[in-house]
Amino acid sequence: MPTETFEFQVEARQLLQMMIHSIYSNKDVFLRELISNASDALDKLRIESLRDDSLNAEVDDLHIEIEPDREARTLTVRDNGIGMSRDEVVQLIGTIAKSGTAELLARLKEAKDETAAEGLIGQFGVGFYSSFMVADEVSLVTRKAGESQGTRWSSTGEGGYTVETVEDAPQGTAVTLRLKPEDAEDQLFDYTSPWKVREIVKRYSDFITWPIRMVTEAPKAEKASETEDAEDAEGGEKAPEPETLNSMKALWARSRSEVSDEEYHELYKHISHDWTDPLETIQLRAEGTFEYQSLLFLPAHAPHDLFSQANKRGVQLYVKRVFIMDDCEALVPEYLRFVKGVVDAQDLSLNVSREILQQDRQIQLMRRRLVKKVLSTIKEMMANREENYTTFWREFGRVVKEGLLNDPDNRDAILRICSFVSTHDKERLTTLARYVERMKEGQKHIYYMTGESRTAVENSPHLEAFQAKGLEVLILTDPVDEVWVGAVPEFEGKQLRSIAQGEAELDAEEEQGEEAKAEKERQRAEFAELLTWLGERLRDEVKEVRLTSRLTVSPACVVTDAGDVTPALQNLYRAMGQEVPQSKRILELNPEHGLVTGLRKAHATDADDPGLGETAELLYGMALLAEGSQLADPARFAKLLAERLERTL
Ligand code: ADP
Repeated sequence: MPTETFEFQVEARQLLQMMIHSIYSNKDVFLRELISNASDALDKLRIESLRDDSLNAEVDDLHIEIEPDREARTLTVRDNGIGMSRDEVVQLIGTIAKSGTAELLARLKEAKDETAAEGLIGQFGVGFYSSFMVADEVSLVTRKAGESQGTRWSSTGEGGYTVETVEDAPQGTAVTLRLKPEDAEDQLFDYTSPWKVREIVKRYSDFITWPIRMVTEAPKAEKASETEDAEDAEGGEKAPEPETLNSMKALWARSRSEVSDEEYHELYKHISHDWTDPLETIQLRAEGTFEYQSLLFLPAHAPHDLFSQANKRGVQLYVKRVFIMDDCEALVPEYLRFVKGVVDAQDLSLNVSREILQQDRQIQLMRRRLVKKVLSTIKEMMANREENYTTFWREFGRVVKEGLLNDPDNRDAILRICSFVSTHDKERLTTLARYVERMKEGQKHIYYMTGESRTAVENSPHLEAFQAKGLEVLILTDPVDEVWVGAVPEFEGKQLRSIAQGEAELDAEEEQGEEAKAEKERQRAEFAELLTWLGERLRDEVKEVRLTSRLTVSPACVVTDAGDVTPALQNLYRAMGQEVPQSKRILELNPEHGLVTGLRKAHATDADDPGLGETAELLYGMALLAEGSQLADPARFAKLLAERLERTL
């Protein structure tokens, strides 16, 4: 096949521009990224060769090789791993398949200063393309294990790239960077210096389980085929022995005192493809019949695809130091899908499959322990590292709460690490335990209200009497809140109660005197006729009209009946494609409000007045608007209101 020229995909081109103009100040990380890719390629080949014994691949001396060439000003990173086919090169290297790329780029454009832009790039992690921070041309020669022909890819990062077939490529991938001339003067950025390479590998990639060797002088033949001007390679000199740069020590197998935080962080970055440090490092070991070691990390920020199907769980499984699989879903439940790390088990078979893992009793025990450990770490963060906990909760709280629904065994532990917005303190979140401590004398329930936004809940009529009486209400605005509240019956013996559902039991919270009871009775009798008439008049919209003590300022509000599905939950189910029956809600009236008492009088005077029906409609519409709901017929509401207003002028 002749040389073909391709254009970069739009997003890829934009990202490359940023790399070329180096918006990321720590350029050294390009090497970490290339090594990380090479290491993955070696892992893949090893797994593939176990699975497929007809695969015609060399697996005896899997390694990574780095070759700096001072005169040519090139740096080559080579692996003898799985390699890529021609199609894969175009697919994997020419496009950015990561979800959220477009969004990231939009946010980068908006980013005011360099630190903000750098933070975004760091969160995203730009693998292979980061080579363009230091190179003005990158070429890659690769041959997929088992295939006979290789592919050469080359680009300056501007516009497009070329792809051609090569006949004599060795198995695996070699990435050669033609380093930018301007970095030559600065010792700090001279990536052809063996000292520099050694230092970067030690700092970022020491734990890589494959040997990373440095060859400082290339064998002549190979060099000639890779760079055009190879005549400067002095003949006669013997190539020195390759030097292994990394210790290959599995960090998870070492005790914490032997490993620095930086080393842990680099392992995290290798696993997660994140460029920012994790929030927490969690170590876990088990000795005895089923021995394993584990290192888990809590990231400092949520990935862009936390809620998409593509987000896999980032825990890698090793067996006796040998990489087995990425994203081992058998080890972590979905609500902890943000946890990254490594689990190394001693007694599993090397060719264990995902299906077997799901069934394995030992794995299930291990998973249970990992979950407990993660939850207890979060609890401990909450107590001792509040700032970290706050960051964690902001980024992942929405996901953790899924566990309240899906992991009943750990429900209490999860409830204890949850934080909520509450009417008690506008600035700080509260825990349930603190809520319970603050509960008023005689208060039996933990009150909450769900809604679309904090403002909508704070301004909704349902809250009025609770505010007036000083009863604290939790404000729950994540979509998942609508769901879990139904699954959690109580906390420390206190039931959770929605203030927008069922009867308001405000009066029950305060012991009622005889007098108050008599007053209630009187009101009920007085309003009986109006309520019956309204119920009839609005029967297509509501299932009942009743009086309430929930309101102090508003004339009316709409509530969901005790056993019914809330409108928000109905919407959620529908969005997931599930059928839910439409259940009618209840209209509640404030018997102390002038509009309600006036309506009662008008109805008692002339029950046939056509204006009454319109007032009823307006009253109901207002109650919906006040809680932030949509009207069924907004145009009609507006028309009725305009007519009324006109009459007042
Ligand atoms: P990421 O590593 O985050 O997926 P990269 O842009 O670094 O993103 O690489 C894109 C893809 O190209 C990788 O997922 C991998 O499939 C392939 N790739 C990169 N480097 C190599 C390599 N040395 N050997 C085999 N495949 C590679």
